[in-house]
Parts: sequence; structure tokens; C-alpha cells
Amino acid sequence: AIALKDVHLSLGEGAGRVHILKGIDLTIEDGTAVGLVGPSGSGKSTLLMVMAGLERSDSGQVQVAGSELSPLSEDELARFRGQTVGIIFQSFHLVPNMTALENVAVPLELSGDAAAFDKARQELESVGLGHRLHHYPAQMSGGEQQRVAVARALVVHPKILIADEPTGNLDDDTGTQIVELMFKAQRERQMTLVLVTHDPALAQRCDRMIRVRSGEIEEEDKTASPARETAGAPL
Ligand code: ATP
Ligand code: MG
Repeated sequence: AIALKDVHLSLGEGAGRVHILKGIDLTIEDGTAVGLVGPSGSGKSTLLMVMAGLERSDSGQVQVAGSELSPLSEDELARFRGQTVGIIFQSFHLVPNMTALENVAVPLELSGDAAAFDKARQELESVGLGHRLHHYPAQMSGGEQQRVAVARALVVHPKILIADEPTGNLDDDTGTQIVELMFKAQRERQMTLVLVTHDPALAQRCDRMIRVRSGEIEEEDKTASPARETAGAPL
């Protein structure tokens, strides 16, 4: 599970310092898909960074998949991220001078996995990119690049998949394909999914919808979601 208790975080220096997270209380059970919505600047991305162990909270408790993150050293935190969390960004964040295969192998190579390239190839095949292994990011469409990013996030078999507006830079059809890919992987691998989106229809498809406003969890809409029921039918 992900359990945040009274989490506060300010970022920036001096007069530019901003109190972003103002006492976040939130528990997400394992295997749950959560849609995180809220206005621009409300703190959604910052909240994801805290869950992913990429930002440390100033106070409060952050428990993710059995680990309390605050006391971890930088090395321990990096190991936690590498083994537990997969992240997908709006702008893909691929390494430009690496091929698709090399990009996806990176998280495995970091942990010294001798089968890194085999596993990376399999993961790319599973997202439908077996024919783009040796392409560089600039040689691929936006949708293909995001598939590479999805493969890179999945290749370590993370317990938690975090996606920050993963369809924000894609046209509707391509975005839908990426979303289907993520939901399918989430179901099959029983991952927890935390998805930030400005698309209400997409948030509705999640098991829970959580609203962030001015750094606080403002409300939570229980969504009855027929689309998700259908999509979630046993394979
Ligand atoms: P959007 O929907 O536009 O992506 P968001 O909800 O993801 O917005 P955040 O990126 O989490 O919002 O930012 C929340 C607030 O914190 C914003 O007002 C932003 O300007 C501020 N902020 C974010 N990072 C920093 C930083 N490193 N230093 C100072 N302020 C920051
Ligand atoms: Mg954001």
C-alpha cells in the first residue's frame, strides 16, 4: 500500500519558497488504480514525486510498499526507486542518444542484471515495439516514444506505476492506446497505479478518483465506472 500521513513539503529558496503539500493524508491499497485530478499548480506532480521517492517530504510519514521513506539514505532511496516504482512522464524523458532497447535496459543495468538486454527486448515486444528496438527517440513518433517509456517503467516489474499526464503530449487515439496499455499491464501484474490526468473520462476509469486542491486532498469521488468494469473483465 501507499500510506501518507500529514505530509508537508515546501520547495524553492527564499522569497520563491512555496508551501506545496499542506498535510496530505492518503492511503492507496495494493492493486488499486487511482486517478489524481485537480487544477494546475495544485501539487499533483509534487505529490507523485514524494510517492516515488524523488522528493523527500519536510514532515509527515510516507510509506510505500512496506518502506518508510523518510529515514532512508540517498542510496537506499535510489534502490527503493529502482526496484519498486515505475514512472511515466508527459514528455517521455527518454535518453536521446540511446536506442529504444538501450533506454529500456537502463533500469536493469543499474541493478547489474546480466539479462538486461534480453528482458528489455521482451518488454518492448510486449508493448508492440519489437520492430523499433534500434531506433533512437528522434526517429520515433510520440506514441512510440511513450511506449518505450512504458516498457522502461515496466521492465523492473515495479509494484507501483506512477504516470504524470502520460497522454498530455499525444493525440486522442494514440493517448487511448497508451492508456489501454497501462491499464492492461496494471491488471495483469496487479500493480498499484497512480495516474495524474486532466481527462475526467480517464480518471473515471480508475477504481478511485482523488482531487488535489492547493496542496490538500479536497474530496474523493467514488466512481461507479462501467467502462472500467468492462475493461477489467477477466481475460
Ligand atoms: P500541473 O497540472 O500544471 O502539472 P501540478 O498540480 O502538477 O500542476 P506541481 O507541479 O506539483 O503542480 O506544482 C505545485 C506548485 O508548486 C506550483 O505552484 C509550482 O509553481 C510550485 N513548485 C513546483 N516545484 C517547485 C520548485 N522546485 N520550487 C518552487 N516552487 C515549485
Ligand atoms: Mg503536474
